[in-house]
Amino acid sequence: MSRVRLQGLTRRFGSVTAVDDVWLDVADGELLVLLGPSGCGKSTLLRMIAGLLPPTAGRVLLDDTDVTTVPPQRRDVAMVFQSYALYPHLSVAGNIGFPLRARRRSRADIRRKVTEVAGALDLSALLDRKPRELSGGQRQRVALGRALVRDPGAFLMDEPLSNLDARLRATTRAEIAELHRALGATIVYVTHDQVEAMTMATRVAVLDQGRVEQAGTPAEVYDEPASVFVATFLGAPAMNIVPATVVATDGGLTVRATDLDLPLGIDATTPGRDVLLGVRPEHLTLTGEPGIRAVVTAVENLGGDEVAHCRAGTHTLAVRGPRPLRLAAGDRVGLTARPEHLHLFDPGTGGRLV
Ligand code: ATP
Repeated sequence: MSRVRLQGLTRRFGSVTAVDDVWLDVADGELLVLLGPSGCGKSTLLRMIAGLLPPTAGRVLLDDTDVTTVPPQRRDVAMVFQSYALYPHLSVAGNIGFPLRARRRSRADIRRKVTEVAGALDLSALLDRKPRELSGGQRQRVALGRALVRDPGAFLMDEPLSNLDARLRATTRAEIAELHRALGATIVYVTHDQVEAMTMATRVAVLDQGRVEQAGTPAEVYDEPASVFVATFLGAPAMNIVPATVVATDGGLTVRATDLDLPLGIDATTPGRDVLLGVRPEHLTLTGEPGIRAVVTAVENLGGDEVAHCRAGTHTLAVRGPRPLRLAAGDRVGLTARPEHLHLFDPGTGGRLV
């Protein structure tokens, strides 16, 4: 397997900068997820790695080879798209073996490899079927198989699960993660689905407007988001963000929001400083002590958890906890959070302070 290095990769379409000076190093055997909202440049970045789109600036390296100008078929990468792009007239075996036939490998070789890959993907019983006789999940596994037979240095996957229903998405997600472990494959995986990113990735690169906002393990980007963008993109419901000021008190430092009583101690930053205070819904807890005074406006049942939407001053705060929260619209509550669960961001840049 290969290491993939992106050095200052940039792509402009006219006046639109789709990918803006991206530096990323994908280690051998790593599953790097490119995560971000629609239009942030994920697919453009992946297509440049595949060689389907020339960059405006920057370089792509596979191991130590600069492949920036190497055509796609001569790069040692295999791409899996969300539209499976199977050949309808070929059987499952024919589709999986296609890349090997194109390389004029012997029939025995092809048969051996197709059998092996079909076994790994639980497709052995379906080898004679045509794509139209398969379910969406099976088709996607055939598309994966066609990438696998090539033994590429790296796999590039563009939202491969987005055409599957929720249940199939979950099982196929686990299968890809398992394949990744079993093969030690280097995978660059594009998605806008944070659950896919959090569950599959060894590392996540969160993109916004063509730039990498943060790259880190799923735990790092969730627990220590580098910016308000990352903080609010990951997590459901999104992190609560409230403009506040840091004030010195006898006991240390506290954050105060203009119309919100916020007796929440914090660890560090300068008194007097304006901040954006962030706290995740699952880190706000109900308290009998004086806390943030709020009124419940609605309660949502998520199955295992409930979310209470609360109004505090002019702000709306989401509180998430195991069901039942025993709250109803109109209830008056006190909310609190532990200091280590508070995030402070710069109101100007959105960057993380604490
Ligand atoms: P999605 O999740 O919706 O597929 P994405 O994150 O993959 O989005 P890209 O498809 O990479 O985003 O697009 C990034 C930006 O570049 C968008 O603003 C898009 O409109 C623009 N863009 C992409 N391809 C082209 C093109 N061929 N010509 C002009 N603009 C383009």
